[in-house]
Amino acid sequence: MTSQLPVPNWTQEYIAANDFPIDIVSSDARGRYAIAARDIREGEVVLRAQGYAAVCTQVCRKEVCSGCFQAYSLGVLGLKCDACSMAFYCTLECREKSFDLHSRFECTFMSQIAGMAAGKAFDKAIADIDAALGVQESGAASYRRMQDLERTGVQSLVRWLLGVCVRGLIEEGGLIPTAGALPTYNAVLELVPNENCLPQDERLKLEGLYIFFSNLSSKPAKRSRKKADASPTTTLKSLSQFMASTMTPVQVSFSELFTARFPQPIDFIRIICIRQCNVFGLWDAESECLGQSFFPAASYFNHSCDKNLYFDQTMKLVPSSEANKQNPSEQDLAREMESMDLNSVKLEDDVEASNTRVFAALQRMPVLVFQAKRDISKGEALTHCYVDQSLEREERRAALKEEYYFDCDCDRCIREDNQTGDDGSVDGK
Ligand SMILES: [Zn+2]
Ligand SMILES: [Zn+2]
Ligand SMILES: [Zn+2]
Repeated sequence: MTSQLPVPNWTQEYIAANDFPIDIVSSDARGRYAIAARDIREGEVVLRAQGYAAVCTQVCRKEVCSGCFQAYSLGVLGLKCDACSMAFYCTLECREKSFDLHSRFECTFMSQIAGMAAGKAFDKAIADIDAALGVQESGAASYRRMQDLERTGVQSLVRWLLGVCVRGLIEEGGLIPTAGALPTYNAVLELVPNENCLPQDERLKLEGLYIFFSNLSSKPAKRSRKKADASPTTTLKSLSQFMASTMTPVQVSFSELFTARFPQPIDFIRIICIRQCNVFGLWDAESECLGQSFFPAASYFNHSCDKNLYFDQTMKLVPSSEANKQNPSEQDLAREMESMDLNSVKLEDDVEASNTRVFAALQRMPVLVFQAKRDISKGEALTHCYVDQSLEREERRAALKEEYYFDCDCDRCIREDNQTGDDGSVDGK
């Protein structure tokens, strides 16, 4: 007998406030899931889910605007933050709108991520972690646990963690004025982590990553010794309050922020497990994953290989000529870049105005709009397909098992099982 999962408070309130035709119910067999609260017509909007901590991958950072999350298909975006070279923008307007969020909350950390150990130093850090985890094997096998980690992959993960940590700071600092307007950190923590499904090897690897991130930046960001006392780093609460009250960019290192948010490896493992089963990839038309985001309200749609919802995402692939139409010419841009000292802009503004701009920047994160693929009756489970619905039965089954840890028994799977009978290969190994 399993215990009933708690009601997801934030999502319930968000659904009610926006009058979406969704009820969230709970059963032992299926966990918590969304059903139609009334009859829904084909094409009707069922949910508009706001993104939480959307980030682009490290590899795609030059093609994805960090402000509006549109992706550009040709070449590198022309505008970036010169301080960290990690955030790229499609237009001056996008860079402007993101300035307060980026310069106060992200840029210092982004610089630390950009400066992460590379080459042999990275390999050594990874080998050290294996040693710390007590891996005894000698020679090549000593890289066993962490060997498939790539620097860009780790950087993408850090970017994502930074997104989560920074979002938490902003929220706890009171910069999100309207309750329910945007998903909260609690809305994410309310999602099911499926920690029990995590294979032991993966768990050990995550413990290794925890060590790595806790020591990513052993020396804190440039900090004036004199001001050190005034920059509280001990608790998240004091740090977030400090950040909300000053225009000074954040004064702690990524590792300090990381360990404040995730005091123990288990805290980190939990958010990674939540991510595993709940994060949405931000894809372009060519099925490349350009980034990731939580959409907490959308996490209660169960899977079906014959989904009754479809969604559109705002991350579209735009030819870069489209962006350049709105932009000044390259020469104008070069001149503008030279004359613009990003670090001095707006610093004279008052912090309340800046806080409002930070909130506005967060509202520009991607939104997923779910619509009914066909007429849906009241009480029917609302579903979308977690994997590519056009895949064959066995491919879907394998992908669902690997990424989401379950065997699909939806109507379509059962139908196809019955159709194929025994001639499908049962065990290829
Ligand atoms: Zn943009
Ligand atoms: Zn920057
Ligand atoms: Zn299925």
